[in-house]
Amino acid sequence: MTINPTHDPARRSWVESANTDATDFPIQNLPLGVFSRAGREEDRRCGVAIGDQVLDLVEAARQGLLEGFAVDDFTGPLNRLMAQSPDRWRALRALVSDLLSAEGAAGVRGRARQGEILVRQDAVTMHLPADVGDYTDFYASVYHATNVGSMFRPDNPLLPNYKWVPIGYHGRASSIVPSGTAVRRPVGQVSANPAGPPTVGPTARLDYEVELGAWIGGANALGATVPIARAGERVFGVSLLNDWSARDMQAWEYQPLGPFLAKNFASSVSPWVVTAEALAPFRTPAFARPEGDPAPLPYLFDAGDQASGGLAIAVECWLASAGMRAAGIAPMRVSLGSARDLYWTFAQMVAHHASNGCNLKPGDLLGSGTVSGAEKGSRGCLLELTWRGTEPITLPTGEVRSFLADGDAVTLRASASAPGYRTIGFGECAGVILPATGQE
Ligand code: CA
Repeated sequence: MTINPTHDPARRSWVESANTDATDFPIQNLPLGVFSRAGREEDRRCGVAIGDQVLDLVEAARQGLLEGFAVDDFTGPLNRLMAQSPDRWRALRALVSDLLSAEGAAGVRGRARQGEILVRQDAVTMHLPADVGDYTDFYASVYHATNVGSMFRPDNPLLPNYKWVPIGYHGRASSIVPSGTAVRRPVGQVSANPAGPPTVGPTARLDYEVELGAWIGGANALGATVPIARAGERVFGVSLLNDWSARDMQAWEYQPLGPFLAKNFASSVSPWVVTAEALAPFRTPAFARPEGDPAPLPYLFDAGDQASGGLAIAVECWLASAGMRAAGIAPMRVSLGSARDLYWTFAQMVAHHASNGCNLKPGDLLGSGTVSGAEKGSRGCLLELTWRGTEPITLPTGEVRSFLADGDAVTLRASASAPGYRTIGFGECAGVILPATGQE
């Protein structure tokens, strides 16, 4: 993935809101999403975020502004585009960048059609970026794995397979929801008193998990593997992911087969997919393994991936209780972490996932696992941040949280930055907690 004129920090757009420092969506970003105009009967279609606007790709193709692409490439979710090749993704980005540029003939044509091809972001409904066929959640932060492991197994926090295998489990695709969807507190089995039988009720330990989600592009046939050197090309782009979790249900059900109902009641994703090409300037070396850790096995080791498989993406979690919102108090940032702290790269997760011949398909979603770092302020879930509820956090209203309360709003944000490049953002992944059914 090479740097090209679409990454030029000097490039500006004729969409003036894209040129402000505050926007997540300057012309160097160009994330893809799926929208429909609010209040209008309209099928889902693909668009690109630019400043506070959306470029309607269906309309741009219809107007002949995206040479080589047809209206059909952009109707419905992103799966059809994800099924195409990295060369086609690069071609589209180059066309869109030129079309939105303040300079050049293509930009002049785009600007002349702005009434037809642009729509304000506050006038659209955002949908899931893709029809998700399969969702897999990994566990790629060694800090998260060590912290959680030490709560349950103080003597043996990190299981012996961790540094050899990118650990993951198959999640559920049907309950993946777009940002802004409210999340109902689940009811389930918990075992609060080991001496007695389990009880059934609303979870008392509802939590979020700050994650990145990689959207799969392209396909490998069932039985075919994905070599590590080619695995990076299978990442179409990255969104924010909140893997909502019910810790009390999880603690009771997770042995011996791993998470089940504690995690499949809802997983939220941000609507904009920041493409792999947009992230090219923010590539970093893979996690530096400490002395004594094993080298990745050959099928997970590629010199290029080791040199640039990491991502300089800062991830934040913001919390606002119903009381804070009622009092007009701004959300409180509860954590700031970095994807640089992930022990495994997305390419390693892809290569491992397909190493047994498992077929990965366009629109599949791979979660990174909770992004946590070495510092307390970087812990990406309340389980870690409050150390299983023993160190509660205090909100500006004086309210105290060990886990989430009804009415709490959780918002994830992220940005990628590097010296000499324009910082790009991911938008938001937000959700508010509704009371359990029958508890309103
Ligand atoms: Ca997770």
